[in-house]
Amino acid sequence: MKEYLAGIDVGGTTVKIGLFPRGEKASVKWEITTRKFAEIGLLWRDIADSINDKLKELGLEKGTLKAAGVGIPGPVREDGFLTKCVNLGLSNCYPAELLSEALGGIPVAVGNDANVAALGEASFGAAKDVKNSLMITLGTGVGAGVIINGKIVAGNRGLGGEIGHFTVNPDETVKCNCGSRGCLEQYASATGMVRIAKKLLAETDMISGLRRFEDFEAKDVCDEAKKGDELALQTLEVLGKYLGIALSHAILLVDPDVIVIGGGVSKAGKILTDTVEKYLNEYIHVAESRAELRLAELGNDGGIYGAAALAEELL
Ligand SMILES: [Zn+2]
Repeated sequence: MKEYLAGIDVGGTTVKIGLFPRGEKASVKWEITTRKFAEIGLLWRDIADSINDKLKELGLEKGTLKAAGVGIPGPVREDGFLTKCVNLGLSNCYPAELLSEALGGIPVAVGNDANVAALGEASFGAAKDVKNSLMITLGTGVGAGVIINGKIVAGNRGLGGEIGHFTVNPDETVKCNCGSRGCLEQYASATGMVRIAKKLLAETDMISGLRRFEDFEAKDVCDEAKKGDELALQTLEVLGKYLGIALSHAILLVDPDVIVIGGGVSKAGKILTDTVEKYLNEYIHVAESRAELRLAELGNDGGIYGAAALAEELL
């Protein structure tokens, strides 16, 4: 009888779920709506019901599901304790215990979503051929995860891999969402990319395809950069420099084999990796070789793959 694992990625609006035959990349994927705040207690029941319905639909017995892994958007300690998840209104609990109970007692493991996505790329994606990797996701915010010897480094407080809040510009006057100033997230997130581009548009007379938009997104900046738009390329230069500073620190701290770059901003592709490479060459001189930069392969599914890998560790 085939055995299955569930990989669950809890987001602010939807919960992505994947059912994986053990040891295989193929999966059945679907989504449900996330319950939050006052209804948060029902979230685990929703997930368990949805998985049980899917097993029935696929003609699989309940007992074939051996373990589940979950990624949550908040700091999760190595022992699985979640201190606070602002987006969901969830704090001071062991989410694995809650879901395990709802799933009839099977083992469940929980991690921070960015760490879990990093484990996904390390197990099934762009870094599957190496043991030590680091993944940075340049999305609405900047999340990252460090994988050493195939395992997530979460730390005693779940702060491991919080590269998005490395200070890269102490002279910044605008505050980051975390309350600090000059964090990487303020420049290298999709929001940060748009902010840099808008600043350049306001401060210069440069001709740019971006001027035809009333408002634009990071994707538009990436598209214009690929067409050779000078202002969009300058935006990537600023972003790449700050990302280069942060990654040079991360490289010198854990020396990974591979750095995986994902999220919306990574759509800029080779222009982004080339710019970051240039700054890494500028900031790292103590070694002849260093981590290779690669683009993420699993897209938005990195979380469910990583959660499945987390579940496999329990068996
Ligand atoms: Zn910050």
